[in-house]
Amino acid sequence: MNIVGDFLTRSALRFPDKTALVDGEISFTYAQLDDAVNRVAAGMRALGLVPGDRVAYHGNNRWELVVTMFAAIQAGFILVPLNVMLRPAELEHILAESGLRLILTTAEGEATARALQGRFSYELSSYDDAGGLFAGWMKGGGATPEAQANRRPDDILALFFTSGTTGKPKGAPIDHEFVSHLAHSWVIACRYTSSEVYLVMTPMFWAVAPIHGILPVVLAGGTVVLMNRFDLDKCCELVQKHRVTSFFAVPTMYTLLIDKKSDALAAMKSLRVCSVAGAPISAEVVSKFESLTGATLLNIYGATEAGAISREMLGAPRRPGCAGTLGGTIEAKLVDAEGRPVPPGTAGEILVRGLTAIKGYWQQGRVNPASLPDGWFHTGDIGVLEDGFFLRIVDRAKDMIITGGANIYPAEVERVIAAHSGVQMCALIGIPDRVMGELPVAYVVLKQPGAATPEALEAFCRDQLSSYKVPRHFVIVESLPLTPTGKIQKVELRKIAGQTAAAAAAKRS
Ligand code: AMP
Repeated sequence: MNIVGDFLTRSALRFPDKTALVDGEISFTYAQLDDAVNRVAAGMRALGLVPGDRVAYHGNNRWELVVTMFAAIQAGFILVPLNVMLRPAELEHILAESGLRLILTTAEGEATARALQGRFSYELSSYDDAGGLFAGWMKGGGATPEAQANRRPDDILALFFTSGTTGKPKGAPIDHEFVSHLAHSWVIACRYTSSEVYLVMTPMFWAVAPIHGILPVVLAGGTVVLMNRFDLDKCCELVQKHRVTSFFAVPTMYTLLIDKKSDALAAMKSLRVCSVAGAPISAEVVSKFESLTGATLLNIYGATEAGAISREMLGAPRRPGCAGTLGGTIEAKLVDAEGRPVPPGTAGEILVRGLTAIKGYWQQGRVNPASLPDGWFHTGDIGVLEDGFFLRIVDRAKDMIITGGANIYPAEVERVIAAHSGVQMCALIGIPDRVMGELPVAYVVLKQPGAATPEALEAFCRDQLSSYKVPRHFVIVESLPLTPTGKIQKVELRKIAGQTAAAAAAKRS
């Protein structure tokens, strides 16, 4: 059997004529989706790819990505979702680590994928090329279901690249067991049935849309509606048009919806259950969204490497400001700086292991258990277990900045700024922002006065970084607070930034 591949084949047997996937004017019934997936899987196999080979999609959300995902799963390949916003310099390390055989790209991604093709030996084709591989496979003959690859629980299904604190992306290998348990937990927590109509709002290179969204809904036999890229008007239009019952969004999207679209939200009577993760969300935003729509908004705390660590569930007790309760297929412990478990009710770093956690990062073509030295995944998040049950996320041990649900790893941005000829030293911190959660701000010490301007530094960063990582402000300072060993004290810098913001606000009022 093919554990996760069977989600689709079985729903196609149960609900052949039900709508499985909608993308604009294009839609597929379950039978049609299964057929398309078999064609594409056969096409990929005909290229000589064998189970375990890595294949990537590279583009904004569209139906071809969903077909590619299921085809890769059916054929036993490892899917590597690539972020189409990444510039060649950012993508290079991911390509070197993943050893891709095939990239299926889009008009918006083709130049980047082509720029790197000479350095790696992958096959490259665009969905937007009418004479390309994908278009040819869709026209070709189907494949027999027997051609499905058998997959064991520990066979890797996808590799998601997430940046560590060093700023170098690391491959998180997700296996069939992980996905199967996670998908079933979503179906239980949200009570998904074949009546579900689920809107995909987040980009498909992040694990949430494919792993936490599309797969559980297909398992239940529901309908998946795609949004190409997040857009407030489009979101409201699609919910109305398709009578959407469920979606996942990051806190920024909820804040924007209640700030700018409260009338439209009040008309979203089809919504039943929505979910949020990726960054802290205020209890006020949750209750406003729930009272406007009448839907329940479930808070889930998770990570690419560890699925859903804690979650709220329909019908289960909830506590405002907490991310629900610990889940069943993952073991968690809270520890102090020395790694000792903290007493109940005390803040500690959250460590996890279990069926829905990685067993190691992808290194040199395999899962390397030694990359998790003590066998636990260290989340870098600080939490408190209230009443031994409810998990409240209080802080991040790591310096990661989350802006609009997207992670920015300061080390990566700092490396770019520091390479500017006029820069002596720099530090990136997140400053609180009501809509985006946090905004990246760079504090820069110049080699000599006038060696660079904020504008020049911004242009320099824009050349090398995706736009969401480019600092919103560059503050030129004479020095940065340092520890005795010369490390920048970010805690101190955040305090200074807070005082500067407060002084500026006082001046304005
Ligand atoms: P990612 O691997 O990109 O999904 O990012 C995972 C990180 O997002 C976690 O380590 C947390 O820092 C943050 N995060 C995820 N869910 C929540 C939540 N419900 N509340 C607060 N922070 C969260």
